[in-house]
Amino acid sequence: MKISFIPAFKDNYIWLLTQGKRAFVVDPGDAAPVIARLHADDLTLEGILITHHHADHQGGVGELAARWQVEVYAPGSESIAGCTRPLSGGEQIDVLGQPVEVMAVPGHTLGHLAYVAPGALFCGDTLFGAGCGRLFEGTPAQMSASLDRFAALPDDTRVYCAHEYTEMNLRFALAVEPQNAALLARVERVAALRAAGLPSVPSTLGDERATNPFLRTSAPAVIEAGLQQGAASRDKTDVFAAIRAWRNSF
Ligand SMILES: [Zn+2]
Repeated sequence: MKISFIPAFKDNYIWLLTQGKRAFVVDPGDAAPVIARLHADDLTLEGILITHHHADHQGGVGELAARWQVEVYAPGSESIAGCTRPLSGGEQIDVLGQPVEVMAVPGHTLGHLAYVAPGALFCGDTLFGAGCGRLFEGTPAQMSASLDRFAALPDDTRVYCAHEYTEMNLRFALAVEPQNAALLARVERVAALRAAGLPSVPSTLGDERATNPFLRTSAPAVIEAGLQQGAASRDKTDVFAAIRAWRNSF
C-alpha cells in the first residue's frame, strides 16, 4: 500500500492510500482536489475513512460517493453524511487487502476514531506533529488516555495527521522544554523541510515521544512546566490539562 497526500484548504492533508489502481482516502474535507488527483492517476476510489465529524474532514464525502461506489467508514456516534460502515473502535477492517485496526480516541470530538494500518497511524485531529488537537468535546482525561493509546504503538509507526501545524507546535514545545536536545534537532529539521516547501509529516511515534509535550506528561521538565502553569498535581492528566490550557493561549 502506497501512501501520499492531497493538500486541501489552507493546511489540511487528505491522505491517499493506493494499491495498484485501487484507492482509499482519509478525511476528504473537499472533493475537488481528490477528484482531480484520482483522475490524474487513473485511480478507482473504493473507500473513505473518516476520523471525526468536522466539516474539513468529511465535507467531500457526498460528491465522492456520487462518482464512485465507496464504503464510508466513520464514527457511528457522530453525524457523518453518507456513512455506510458505522464504527465505534475495536473493529478490524480491510483496507486494500491490509488489516486496519479502528481505535476510539475521544478528546478532540467524542466519537473521534484513529485508523492503525501496519506501520501507519491515521490520527485525524487527535495527535499532530509536536502537538495535539483542541478539546472541543472531550475532557483532558479522555484526551490524555487517547494519546496514551498512540504512545503504546511502535517507535517506527508513521504518524499521518490531518494538518500541517508542526512549526507552530514546535514553538510551543520549546517554551515547555527549552533544554530538550531532540526537540532542538527537530526544530532545525522541520524548518529545513518547510523552507524547501515540503511537508513536515508524516513524523514517527518515536519523534513524537521524544519531542511532543502532550506525549511527555510524565517527563520531569514537562511536569515542572505544568506545575508552573497551575497543574493541580503531578498526575499526568493534571499536567496534560495545564499544558493544553497554556497552548490555547500561547
Ligand atoms: Zn477537527
